[in-house]
This record gives sequence, C-alpha cells and structure tokens, in this order.
Amino acid sequence: MKDLSDIREVKRILSRHGFHFSKALGQNFLIDPTVCPRMAEACGAGPGVGVLEIGPGCGVLTQQLAMRAEKVVAVELDKRLPAVLAETLADFDTVKIVPGDVLEMDVASLLAQEFAGLRVTVCANLPYYITSPILMKLLEERLAVESITVMVQKEAAERICAQPGSRQCGAVSVAVQYYAQPEILFDVPRESFLPAPQVDSAVIRLAIREKPPVSLAAPERDFFRLVRAAFGQRRKTVSNALCAGLSREKPAVAAALEQAGIPPSARAEQLSMEQFGRLCDALFVGGGAGIAE
Ligand code: SAM
Repeated sequence: MKDLSDIREVKRILSRHGFHFSKALGQNFLIDPTVCPRMAEACGAGPGVGVLEIGPGCGVLTQQLAMRAEKVVAVELDKRLPAVLAETLADFDTVKIVPGDVLEMDVASLLAQEFAGLRVTVCANLPYYITSPILMKLLEERLAVESITVMVQKEAAERICAQPGSRQCGAVSVAVQYYAQPEILFDVPRESFLPAPQVDSAVIRLAIREKPPVSLAAPERDFFRLVRAAFGQRRKTVSNALCAGLSREKPAVAAALEQAGIPPSARAEQLSMEQFGRLCDALFVGGGAGIAE
C-alpha cells in the first residue's frame, strides 16, 4: 500500500500526475499519520458498514476507511484525482470513486444503490469553502446515515457544536442540532496538512437524531426561515431581526414573542431550541410547539 503519510511519497505521486493543489477546491491534504486512523475509527467504519467519503483527495483517509469498512464510496469533484486514486487505492477492491460535485448529486439514490443491506456512515475531511452547504444538504435530505464524522475549521466546529442559548450559537448550530447531536472529537493543528492552511481544524461527529428535539405544528421550512431571520442581524434583538427578515409588523412579532414566553429584549443567541420551536408555531400557526419526548 502506498504510504500517504510520507510527505515525499505524496509529493512524488502528485508530481508524476502533474497535480497542483487548487485553493478554489479547498485542497489541503492530510499528512499527519495519526489523524486518518482516528477518524476512521471514530466514524464507526467496520464490517457491515458502508462509508460515504466526500473529497478523497489523494486517498489518505480513504485507505484507512477501506481497511475497516465493508465498502467505501468516495465522491470527488476534481477530474485530475481519479487517476491518482487509481494508483493509491490499487490494493482495495471495495472502494468506488464517483466523480462529481456532492452538492449537485442525488446522494439518497447513490446510497441506496451502493450500500444496500449495509449500515451507512459519512466520513470526510471537508472542503472548507462549502462546509455548511454540505452538512445542511446531508442533514436536510434525511439520508439513511447513522452519523457524520468530518474535519472542519476549528471555528466552524465550535460554532456547529455551540448550544442554543450560548454566545457562540448561530443559525448553523440550531439547524445542525435540529437533526443531530454534535460533539467535537479532537483538534488538528494546521501543520497536519499539505499545504498548511491559515487556520487550525477539528474533527466533529454528528450523531443523527431519530426525531427532532422539538415537535412543531408549523412546517419545518418555517422553522428554518425563522432561525435564519433571527440570526440574520446578530446585533439586533430577535424582535427587530424578525420584522426585517420575515417582513412582519412589529405588533405581530411582539405578540408572538409574548405567546412563546420570550422577553422582547432577547437576542437570537439567547434562545433555546424549545423557545425557537414555540416562537415558530406562534408566528406561523398561532399555537404552541411541544418539546419532543
Ligand atoms: N480527503 C483528503 C485528505 O484528507 O487529505 C482531501 C481533503 S481536501 C480538504 C477536500 C477534497 O474535496 C479535495 O479533494 C477536493 O478536490 C474535494 N472537493 C472540493 N469540492 C468538492 C465538491 N463540491 N464535491 C466533491 N468533492 C469536492
């Protein structure tokens, strides 16, 4: 097996294929030999498990996944990389490279086609320029996956895992936590990558919830409209942010806040998941959201 934790070997293979890193595609390849085995273990790769990887790069994480999982399907946008991967993954016949943009792909059909009879998990060192769109696509499509274990920028990891009601909480924290329970597993310093990015990273694991933490009377899309609008103008109160973001009159928003038991001076980062749920139903239905058991 090609040793992709040996930086000279990686450089030799890439240069033989005439490969140059693309900043636009978020290409920072892992070269720390300890990180990929930890990620592969953490994501639950093992017998009976199929792993979807996004952006295999030169295959350093793919190798570790393939050593453990029943099958690995890796989606890669860069057309230059399948030739590199054919060389670095030559020892594995359980890996399939799917060329294309994961954001444009019918991932549900891909999983159904490739992983019939297997439990499915996602594991990836994500291209950082599209961390949130990828995570939200995977979550919103309610794919049949047990967990999502991904490397993201450290700051993004902290934001995604911030509890609603805490200072660091943002729209992405509430949205992710509606679908999953996130945790930060470990930090990864910038020197672990080639080329080294400007920021440190962290590996997070999202355990997919069986059902959301709040039960809504309103449609889910209204909940996410509300969350986006509430965090749309962070320095304003929720009341002002909602008037602007949802084009509502002030008295109507004030009445909904009162019905949801939220003080008029509250800011979005101070609201709990339950308060967002109650406010959603007060605004869009007029009733109250319950807390899921
Ligand atoms: N997994 C490798 C590693 O850990 O060294 C590479 C990770 S690198 C941060 C991100 C990878 O995602 C690159 O290979 C890049 O070409 C690929 N990529 C970028 N945008 C993508 C997209 N929209 N769909 C699929 N892959 C993408």
